[in-house]
Amino acid sequence: MLIQANKNTDVDMNPNLLIGEEWREGSRKERIMVEDPATGGTIGSVSDADVSDAMLAVDAAYTAGHGWAATSARDRCEILRRCFELITRDANELANIISLENGKAIKDARGEVAYAAEFFRWFSEEGVRARGDIGMAPSGNNHILVQYQPIGVSLLITPWNFPAAMATRKIAPALAAGCTCVLKPATATPLTAYAIVRIMLEAGVPPGVVNVITTSTTGSVVNAILNDSRVRKLSFTGSTEVGRTLLREAAGQVINSSMELGGNAPFLVFEDADLDSAVEGAMVAKMRNGGEACTAANRFLVHRSVAEAFTERLVSAMSRLKVGPGVNEDTDCGAMINNEAVKKIQELVDDAKAVGARVLCGGAATDEKGFYYPPTVLDNVPLTAKMFREEIFGPVAPIYVFETEEEAIRLANDTEYGLVAYLYTKDTGRGLRISAALEAGMVALNRGLVSDPAAPFGGVKQSGLGREGAQHGMLEFMEPKYIATSWAC
Ligand code: NAP
Repeated sequence: MLIQANKNTDVDMNPNLLIGEEWREGSRKERIMVEDPATGGTIGSVSDADVSDAMLAVDAAYTAGHGWAATSARDRCEILRRCFELITRDANELANIISLENGKAIKDARGEVAYAAEFFRWFSEEGVRARGDIGMAPSGNNHILVQYQPIGVSLLITPWNFPAAMATRKIAPALAAGCTCVLKPATATPLTAYAIVRIMLEAGVPPGVVNVITTSTTGSVVNAILNDSRVRKLSFTGSTEVGRTLLREAAGQVINSSMELGGNAPFLVFEDADLDSAVEGAMVAKMRNGGEACTAANRFLVHRSVAEAFTERLVSAMSRLKVGPGVNEDTDCGAMINNEAVKKIQELVDDAKAVGARVLCGGAATDEKGFYYPPTVLDNVPLTAKMFREEIFGPVAPIYVFETEEEAIRLANDTEYGLVAYLYTKDTGRGLRISAALEAGMVALNRGLVSDPAAPFGGVKQSGLGREGAQHGMLEFMEPKYIATSWAC
């Protein structure tokens, strides 16, 4: 069954797989339906790839690989720059499709498109600056030349929460480095990925350089790709649980792996913080994307002396948010991705209540057609509540109280995750000292946002391996080659 194109967008709502130069129907004839989380209705469909289609995608990427790697960096980067320009041109259509398939507020979707486009601009500038190193061996016997070469065919796997930005954060550096790729977007939000690669083809990306597959049998299809010795890179963004599985699977062919995984971000408010600014930052850190972000503040750790004032202001700001269909201009918090997500949030809130937490606003899913959850603030949350350890991935802000700096750092680090930490204090020395002590790949000091294509994004501990963005992001798709030479021969 094909769904008519949505009247608000020119985006193809029923794309087929992109393999080489062909928009090809998947071998499984049943299509995968795409749901609108705001209504639960169907908005489109995508082709369903099996293992044979996945192998064709690897063939196409492998065949295109030599030509793309041999293309001059300047030519590759001119194409990436055009991708930036064309995505910016089509920003409204893309934002609309993101909001429709993901449920997020259109304001958030517009922000995501701008962020997604910036990865093309950044890497179009970075790709012409692949440098090498030269040194002399301490023995004096030879020079050490190091050059960076494209790693090869790359498998890119992305989640549903940022369907545009998580894809471009991988595709842009891969292409800038001279790699070709197979993208497997999340099954819940595939339309944005197809729309972006269609724009990339218009921008001049040659056939086979980017291939896209969607599948209803993700595990076996991805496993087959990881067992193909031509695939040399896995770049994954998603949950820590799936990341662990993929690391095990990548071990079979010793595939170089980058992992952007889950988070459990602490948001620390010290007694000397500017509370207005802390609440403003808290709203961004918590409510960007309705709380469905790996960077979402998951635990508010607040000094006892300011806990009441901070909580009051946070409750007031959260209560004012308008919940509704993402495509409505006045919506602040759109629908969650699906009913399971709403149920999981409710379970975490109920568990916290059962162990003594107090609900100050929200706290119960409304009985509506779409998958909504109201902005919620809890205080008196005991450390035994499950939400102290688990990603909430929704608009729920639990508040915990601390007394000393040491206690704040200990609580912040008491998690298997280490993606990002937020902290508010007016004392810069203290801020930098605490930043150094926090076990996180990124720290936001008196800010509610860290994401920036020019910055190395990534986590420590079980939040991941490697970095995306900045110079680091491109090196993830390159191998250093060392040449020993003594000049004379
Ligand atoms: P997920 O369930 O791990 O899925 C992510 C991707 O992996 C999807 O494309 C999914 O495909 C695929 N996948 C699932 N099971 C697989 C398997 N057995 N083998 C191969 N691939 C598999 O994560 P999600 O629910 O989409 O996203 C939310 C998670 O992503 C959260 O934990 C969040 O913190 C994390 N995240 C991290 C970052 C970061 O930069 N660190 C950014 C965004 C999100 P299907 O859709 O077909 O299942």
